[in-house]
Amino acid sequence: MPELPEVETVRQGLAPVMEGAVFESVLLNRRNLRFPFPRNFKKRLEGNKIISLGRRGKYMTARLSTGEVLIMHLGMTGRFTVHGQNAGRFYHDSGGAEKHDHVVFTFKSGAVVVYNDARRFGFMDLVSGDKLDQSKHFASMGPEPLGQAFTLEAFNTQLKPRSTPIKTALLDQKVVAGIGNIYACEALFRSGISPRRKASSVAGVRAARLHPEIIKVLEEAIVAGGSTLRDFAASDGALGYFQHRFQVYDREGEACQRCQASIKRLEQAGRSTFFCSACQR
Ligand SMILES: [Zn+2]
Repeated sequence: MPELPEVETVRQGLAPVMEGAVFESVLLNRRNLRFPFPRNFKKRLEGNKIISLGRRGKYMTARLSTGEVLIMHLGMTGRFTVHGQNAGRFYHDSGGAEKHDHVVFTFKSGAVVVYNDARRFGFMDLVSGDKLDQSKHFASMGPEPLGQAFTLEAFNTQLKPRSTPIKTALLDQKVVAGIGNIYACEALFRSGISPRRKASSVAGVRAARLHPEIIKVLEEAIVAGGSTLRDFAASDGALGYFQHRFQVYDREGEACQRCQASIKRLEQAGRSTFFCSACQR
């Protein structure tokens, strides 16, 4: 499931094609993804221009000349491909539609952006730009981890009252936006904190170690995504996932890079947690 760095990488790949582009036509190959498309979706896009392409947590936000914002969420398997003429450095011509191509945006520039989503957990929505922060998607969302609002103080305030394990608290988008299973595991490993520890007991000394590691692990992944994007997009125009070597995620049974103990896996809130029980306390 794409987390903040993957979504940011997709955004960076699409921005040169979509920013300033005018929708010529919008083709929907079905009526819904995870949710139905908004009413008059085609009509509200066609003929209108994308002013800017942003991101909030794991959502991409395209500001339109109409004042509305097109919200795009990749779900678990969503990916975008860029085709057509004048698509800049993401030029690609696959020679035909693929299975699970659900949405096709054709722009006046000649660029074609296709949304493909095999499992259809992704979705698109249109909301009024001046009510974006109050929209159902963002109203209760916590600070952007790479923004100024994510201070150590704000992080402590969120952790103090929480009796859930810290790993589960990090997945709560109210605590901090955009973190999923992978980066929660990685940030806890890097700061030497047990995923089982109560969030309230992380507040204070441990939070002071965890807070900068959350920021660093995300920033490093965005940099890695950017370089993958250059190789990847140049070759096949696909924007979605990039494989990345993690220090602890999906490494059950392997030796801990810090202390050589065996990496363990644990179920927390229905999700797999990977950690080292010897050096994460
Ligand atoms: Zn270890």
